[in-house]
Amino acid sequence: MTTIKLHNTKTRRKEVFSPLNPDNVRMYVCGPTVYDRAHLGNARPVVVFDVLFRLLRHVYGPGHVTYVRNFTDVDDKINAKAADSKRTIGEITEETIRWYLDDMGALGALEPTHMPRATAYVGAMIAMIADLIAKGHAYAAEGHVLFAVDSYSNYGALSGRTVEDMIAGARVEIAPYKRNPMDFVLWKPSSDDLPGWDSPWGRGRPGWHIECSAMAQELLGASFDIHGGGIDLQFPHHENEIAQSCCAHPEGGFASVWMHNEMLLVEGRKMSKSLGNFFTVRDLLDQGVPGEVIRYVFLMTHYRKPMDWTADKAAQADATLRKWYALAAQAPDGTAPSQTAIEALCDDLNTHAVLSECHQLALAGDAAALRGTMQLVGLMQAEGPAWAAAPVVDLSAQSDRLAAARDTAMQTKDFTQVDRLKAALLAAGVEVRMSKAGVELVPGPDFDPARLEGLE
Ligand SMILES: [Zn+2]
Repeated sequence: MTTIKLHNTKTRRKEVFSPLNPDNVRMYVCGPTVYDRAHLGNARPVVVFDVLFRLLRHVYGPGHVTYVRNFTDVDDKINAKAADSKRTIGEITEETIRWYLDDMGALGALEPTHMPRATAYVGAMIAMIADLIAKGHAYAAEGHVLFAVDSYSNYGALSGRTVEDMIAGARVEIAPYKRNPMDFVLWKPSSDDLPGWDSPWGRGRPGWHIECSAMAQELLGASFDIHGGGIDLQFPHHENEIAQSCCAHPEGGFASVWMHNEMLLVEGRKMSKSLGNFFTVRDLLDQGVPGEVIRYVFLMTHYRKPMDWTADKAAQADATLRKWYALAAQAPDGTAPSQTAIEALCDDLNTHAVLSECHQLALAGDAAALRGTMQLVGLMQAEGPAWAAAPVVDLSAQSDRLAAARDTAMQTKDFTQVDRLKAALLAAGVEVRMSKAGVELVPGPDFDPARLEGLE
């Protein structure tokens, strides 16, 4: 089998990737807090981990990879936006989730296997918090529950910091109920006008960090393969996730490999509203920049280096893609990617080298390998994906069932059934695309109709 090497933040080394279970390679990536359109920086981890998802599917088989990316749909920023706009929290989160899926879809990102919403897992969070208290890793104080960082000796190992460094470097919220300034919130009280759930510590809502620990535990188990996110999440978010999960489930190791993408710059500067260089993915799409062009520009830079978005690069990507599409369109769908490109991708996602290989293939006029290689990294979606030539299969019954389940879930906010149906379809080799327009099911190369039987 192809050997994949990934840089592991935890060990600070590039390591041979060997999944705990090759039949079910498991990856968790921190998803967005849904109160506004995704800006270009938010899109970078989506594309980076989509490339990894595609590579894992290529190597282990599409039915053997489970990718979880959450939606944080309970957060003070969401509450503030609802109050400002005089709309309900549900309206804001629903709308933002739709925007997000549409915009990331335009970048050619496959939907993850599961997209849990934090609010559907509050029960699991409360149970995990109670367990942490029982094990002596957390304490309740004044309606809050805090994680006691002193109780976990490995705290800081991921980012390589000591607690003293963190206190010095971080803007720590000092609160009288904290035993240690670094102790972080697992649960906080909610006033009547804010979303809240009943708990042993009174009506309240979860802290941000516990969400990912609880959802990863529920969907992937106490040990899984890869945890990803932007470098800005390494501390404190990921450090806190590790502390919570390893203390609640000392039998598991949480994630084996930690991967972090570097930040995004615009024309050499940090993107900020005050510099006037802040824009969303939707802004670019509306300006006529195709999603594939945005994706191409992202792929030009290795994920562990800061990526500079420039108008020049976008123009260059546009011109190159036009040439490549014209050539690749001459090849039938479903062609194999070049071995050089696969090897480059297996070397800690060297997407820059994959694009160089595409240039070589284009120069050599190798339409088939170019098409396969572009599609390996999620380019050339517009021309119809590789499995478009697969035999026509009637999946209307399954798509009706999924659409009905989604409609119900929009009302109940419980997406368990939707997630279950999607997972079953993906396991049968069916690509699931959900958008405002409806549900589209497309059989992939590994589609196995027998696995659809008994799907409920
Ligand atoms: Zn997270």
